[in-house]
Amino acid sequence: MNLKKEIDVIVTLNFQQRLEILKINSKCLRCNSQIIVKNGKENYVQRYRYKGCGKFFALFTNVVLEKTKWHWDIWIKVLKMTLNNYSLNVMKTVLVNDYGCRGISPKTIFLWKHRLIKAQRI
Ligand SMILES: [Zn+2]
Repeated sequence: MNLKKEIDVIVTLNFQQRLEILKINSKCLRCNSQIIVKNGKENYVQRYRYKGCGKFFALFTNVVLEKTKWHWDIWIKVLKMTLNNYSLNVMKTVLVNDYGCRGISPKTIFLWKHRLIKAQRI
C-alpha cells in the first residue's frame, strides 16, 4: 500500500470513528429503526443495515462531507458548531483563526450549515 492510500485509509477510519461518536445515521430516516447490524466492509468503510427495513448504509451515507474539497476536519468542526447552535459570526471566527479558512464568507458558512442540517435532519 502506498503512502497516499495509507493516509486515505487512516483518515477514513478516523472519520468513521468521529461520525460514530456523533451518532450520525444512528437512526433510519425512513423507518426510525435504531437497531443496526454490521454488514461487512468495503474499501475500509464499515457497511451497516437497519434491522427495521433492511436498508444498507455507511456512516458517510447522506453526509455531505464526502466529495468535498474541504478537509474533513473542517466539516466535522462545522457539524459540531451547527449541532451546538453557534452563530455564523462565531463559526467564521473559528474557521478563520483555527482552520485557516481565510476570506470565507458568512454566506458560505450559512450554506454549509444548511446542507448539514438538511443532510442530517437535525
Ligand atoms: Zn429503515
